[in-house]
Amino acid sequence: MRTAQGLLWKKGDEWRDQARTCWCCRSMKREAGTVSVYRNEDGSGSSLTGLNRCGNIWTCPVCAAKVAEARRAELNAGLVSHLKAGGGAYLLTLTFPHEADHPIAELLERFTNARQRLQNSRTWKRVMEEAGRLGSVASLEVTISQENGWHPHLHVLIFAQTNGFHEGDPINDQGDLLSPAIIELKHAWVNILLKTGLGDLKKLHHMLDHALNVRGGNQAAEYIAKYGRDERWGQSSEMTRHYTKQGSAGERDGLLHFTPFQLLTWAGNGDEWATRKFIEYSDAIEGKRAVTWSPGLKKSLGVHSDQTDEEIAADDNPMPEQIHVGDIDQEQYQTLFRHNRLPDFVRYVAQSAVTQADLDEYIEAIKTTPATHSGAVVIKGTFSGRYMVQ
Ligand SMILES: [Zn+2]
Repeated sequence: MRTAQGLLWKKGDEWRDQARTCWCCRSMKREAGTVSVYRNEDGSGSSLTGLNRCGNIWTCPVCAAKVAEARRAELNAGLVSHLKAGGGAYLLTLTFPHEADHPIAELLERFTNARQRLQNSRTWKRVMEEAGRLGSVASLEVTISQENGWHPHLHVLIFAQTNGFHEGDPINDQGDLLSPAIIELKHAWVNILLKTGLGDLKKLHHMLDHALNVRGGNQAAEYIAKYGRDERWGQSSEMTRHYTKQGSAGERDGLLHFTPFQLLTWAGNGDEWATRKFIEYSDAIEGKRAVTWSPGLKKSLGVHSDQTDEEIAADDNPMPEQIHVGDIDQEQYQTLFRHNRLPDFVRYVAQSAVTQADLDEYIEAIKTTPATHSGAVVIKGTFSGRYMVQ
């Protein structure tokens, strides 16, 4: 998050005009400028309350993790309810061939246009009607490879009847399904890719094999279980290694793909390619929706939640199993930022802070080293401190 804040910060602009992520967790809700500190009873985690969050799932790893957790729970509730009622589920994935020099803004626009054409096509409507489709949930994802550039793709969870596509057993280890209905969808999608300039006749066979695939209910459940987990967001330790070594979001056509948050890790270590790509991505993805339920589906599956990303991120009530350790004031909180110690502090609280004195002592101790960063925060709409220097 700290790296994203530095990359998104626009020099010379007022703090009010900066991206919301720049102020995530550095804007205090209470006039007194206090932050409450909680820890899990078993030492597995800690949290802070009294802070404003940005709720931007594309550019803020902290909010993304929280929102993804809530979205995963919704998807899971929907799937369980549908399967219990005797329905079947499919995971359909849409992609297209992509090349290193394609700007992401243009790719996203064409891709959105293409998927709308597919979903409005007669083939799609007929095949889905025959499959007994109740509705679907689309989720947009973006990865990148050094060789082939940006790779936007869309996962569509289709809630239908069992054996809705009249498919047989999976045709390979990845669980890909095949049937005349699925082949019709493949042809329709490839045609649209060719018409919208996202496809290339030279890659026809490759596109027919890979640009649209359908997997069964097990894969749908597996996808949901992984949604928003560490491996997708680059938080596990192996993800922090350099991209030339290891730590990819996955492999496609023999190339390693990375998530935007993995770019942040490398950008934080001074990598210029990753820095450039993250900024390009954040400008292009602004305002896009990550997860879209088709109209009426939540209601018919009995999923009762309509919180926005911002609302989910803003809810910082402590969990019932969390214990209040103490409160820190504005000055102390700014000290954590000046010394870039917030992640370490959060870990320290989880593992060893029990009393208010523990919090105060930790912060006193880090003051003995020179400040390396800006400690700027906003308190109830009022700016306090120096502007960020990264
Ligand atoms: Zn945030």
